[in-house]
Amino acid sequence: MSTPREDDDAEAARPGPGWSTHGFSTRAIHAGSEPDPATGAVVTPIYQTSTYKQDGVGALRLGLGAGYEYSRSANPTRTALEEALAALEQAPGAGAAPRGFAFASGLAAEDTLLRAALGPGDHIVVPDDAYGGTYRLVARVAGPWGVQHATVHVGDRDAVHAALRPGVTRLVWVETPTNPLLAIADIAAIAELAHAAGALLVVDNTFATPYLQAPLALGADVVVHSTTKYCGGHSDVIGGALVVAPGVSVPWLDGAGDVGADLAERVGFHQNAMGAIAGPFDAWLVQRGLKTLAVRMDRHCDNAERVVEFLLGHPRVGQVLYPGLPEHPGHALAARQMRRFGGMVSFRVRGGEEDALSVCKRAGVFTLAESLGGVESLIEHPGRMTHASVAGSALEVPADLIRLSVGLEDADDLIADLDQALD
Ligand code: PLP
Repeated sequence: MSTPREDDDAEAARPGPGWSTHGFSTRAIHAGSEPDPATGAVVTPIYQTSTYKQDGVGALRLGLGAGYEYSRSANPTRTALEEALAALEQAPGAGAAPRGFAFASGLAAEDTLLRAALGPGDHIVVPDDAYGGTYRLVARVAGPWGVQHATVHVGDRDAVHAALRPGVTRLVWVETPTNPLLAIADIAAIAELAHAAGALLVVDNTFATPYLQAPLALGADVVVHSTTKYCGGHSDVIGGALVVAPGVSVPWLDGAGDVGADLAERVGFHQNAMGAIAGPFDAWLVQRGLKTLAVRMDRHCDNAERVVEFLLGHPRVGQVLYPGLPEHPGHALAARQMRRFGGMVSFRVRGGEEDALSVCKRAGVFTLAESLGGVESLIEHPGRMTHASVAGSALEVPADLIRLSVGLEDADDLIADLDQALD
């Protein structure tokens, strides 16, 4: 939490809340985590309070603890997380800071963004292998409210271009790498296409994390996270986030709901008005996760590379999908826009759906479970699990596909487990 203490030399010597000129891990550990102004606690406390004493009727507190009135509107533990998220998505040394917002889940963040940025009749372009819940939200929740959508393969720039309806398309939504097929989208190129059509680019950065990929620096307007995944990192919290680049506006909604066209303002308004906020304990868990994000991601990447190497040599594996492989169609692009290739690996088995189901069942160190991005390795069958909601749609995934979230265990144990599961 940033509360200015100009009278304190040691505090004054600390960098500002953005820490924007520092490296990634320094920002992850310090941004938003100023020592608690009341006690000096080095770790931001969990402010488990719904309300705050006011100085008088209609007079909020001044000085220490200023700015807090009711915890749906703002809570110091959530503020700390929101500052950290913004600092991590900001390109080092960039001028004006983006704004971060923390939500109760990734989908709550997405819903808030859709309502803050779109009105009836507006159009959104979504990836043809988007996370199933994102597609369901767009098609089955926003759709009946009058939001139109088109699905495209976001790895194909011409297809994205063809799907844009200038003056009607307001958002282009990109996941990269995609879930579960791990396709790569060209963030900078799609940002240009979207902007030329008067639309904004939203990047779901859940799979890559701000450590591996910096969408705002590549021209995106908004970053979305399911912080449930790598940001939290320990499979013990559901959370979501939005980070909005400075100066982004949605002129087509100017004045709607009495709010102006500045997107960050509108997201803040909707976060409070709709109330899908991250609670203090959940915010605290996610911020704790962020502090180790860089070291965890490096180990996720190391282990994923070992697992990929093993799968490539296995006779029952038909295809391995991993952007780090030179034969992956998005490899060159991923090498340009990502620091490394991530901890998610998908593969297809030669024996079809039954074979895929039996591998999932036989795995032991890999836990059969939905979700991803935690310290423990997970295995799942997207067709019957995470992506069951898109069966029969353009987003349906192959039945012989298995998705791995490669965790932080010893790589030899992970490989031995896959070996026996594929036996
Ligand atoms: N985006 C991606 C890429 C996801 O994988 C998920 C969940 O799996 C979400 C968004 C939704 O997040 P949550 O489950 O936290 O609502």
